[in-house]
Amino acid sequence: MSRPVRVRFAPSPTGYLHVGGARTALYNFLYAKNRGGKFILRIEDTDLERSTEEAMHMQIGDLKWLGLNWDEGVNPETLEDMGDKGPYRQSQRLEIYKEYAEKLIASGTAYYCFMTDEEIDKQREELKAAGKPPQVQSPYRDMDPAESKKKLDSGESAVVRFKVPKDKSEFVLKDLVRGEVKFPSDMVGDFVLIRSNGMPVYNFCCAIDDALMEISHVFRAEEHLSNTLRQMMVYEALGLEVPEFGHLSIILGADKQKLSKRHGATSCNQYRELGYLPEAMNNFIALMGWSHPEGKEVMTSEEMQKAFSTDRLNPASAVFDEVKLKWMNASHLRELDHAELWSRVKPFLDEAGLELPEDPQWQDRALSVFKTSMETLADAVELFRPISAKNYKVDDTAADALSWDSSKAVIEKWKSLVAAAAEDYLSEEQFVEAQNAVKTECGVKGKHLFMPIRVAVIGKPQGAELKHLVPLMKKDLLIERAQLALNQ
Ligand code: GLU
Repeated sequence: MSRPVRVRFAPSPTGYLHVGGARTALYNFLYAKNRGGKFILRIEDTDLERSTEEAMHMQIGDLKWLGLNWDEGVNPETLEDMGDKGPYRQSQRLEIYKEYAEKLIASGTAYYCFMTDEEIDKQREELKAAGKPPQVQSPYRDMDPAESKKKLDSGESAVVRFKVPKDKSEFVLKDLVRGEVKFPSDMVGDFVLIRSNGMPVYNFCCAIDDALMEISHVFRAEEHLSNTLRQMMVYEALGLEVPEFGHLSIILGADKQKLSKRHGATSCNQYRELGYLPEAMNNFIALMGWSHPEGKEVMTSEEMQKAFSTDRLNPASAVFDEVKLKWMNASHLRELDHAELWSRVKPFLDEAGLELPEDPQWQDRALSVFKTSMETLADAVELFRPISAKNYKVDDTAADALSWDSSKAVIEKWKSLVAAAAEDYLSEEQFVEAQNAVKTECGVKGKHLFMPIRVAVIGKPQGAELKHLVPLMKKDLLIERAQLALNQ
């Protein structure tokens, strides 16, 4: 009988959520949703030197931003346990690991090893020199437990090592992504379960937790394959049920090298700051290693949840294509209704110090004009900047246009026509009419007409089309700016 689906994302809180981590979280989330299962967040913070509370907040913040909400685990707001299989932070489960380490020692599948670092290094060098795999060969592997106990009681320090079985030639994993993977059991030496400072190591905690939290499926990065072998040994030694595994393809940069900071932004948080939408990030990340059965590209989370299945996970490496991400972002951005889009754009406009009308109808009109020119939320800043109430200043590039004999009259006329308009805002047609009237009355055309008006509107002789900008600018603002241009 198949087990209830319970999957988890288990980040080590050592920094921001990387796109690779986000993909792991997303696939687990999509699988849970598709199968009506539970998605769990567990924090793997036993590496005391590298784990920080701050990084845990950052990871949780990024997962929340992506909307990958979990059913069980660390509560996203209070950080308390949420669910009945906690604690969900490994640093709070030390007693549990100790108990299981003792079970393994009692059953003879783990032992205390008293080798010093120097002895290990020396042995490694000797093994290498002899052309053998540099795996630890501990003289304590078969020590009588009573004798080990005596050494411990006398204050000697020891690690707990797992006794890798010598009677089994290989371990076979039926991987959900890669098919059958065979590991020779001598691929790893007796590995450490508990360090001499009493802290358990990842492979041990992970296996115990996945078993006790009744995790049914583990989707994680390919680089964990050799850890999986160690974890399978732990499950077997303890008689615990082994989850199914799916090892996800590696992610490469455009140059086909493993994706790293060298390639630019690699953390979700950076993309959020660059103005990417979580909808687009999820969609883009989902397609790095999975595909929709009908080849759909732009999808909502619900569509992905519905279509997600392990048989479409691709073992070949995926390429992080920034051009595609941008395109996908633009596609999702255009799907948002204007009220929603405004709420997403607003923090970027505020951050840039722009002052724009609060009126939702104005915002709706403005987005109709600018939306098609936006690929990211951050693109809004330069599009809106010219019409921000605060931002008018006559640019140095305007000097030439302002020096022409006809320019003053052009701007005066423009100003008086704007002032004569009945409504607060000119329509596009009214703007064109006003421009034509200036042309006739001042007897100017071409650049002698357009440039001084543009300077009077945005402070520069070049820029976006005035027929788009002017209808978004209040009459008073246009008059004030024309006056400032005249005062030059
Ligand atoms: N804490 C591990 C990591 O961040 C989790 C690996 C796993 O999913 O088992 O790489």
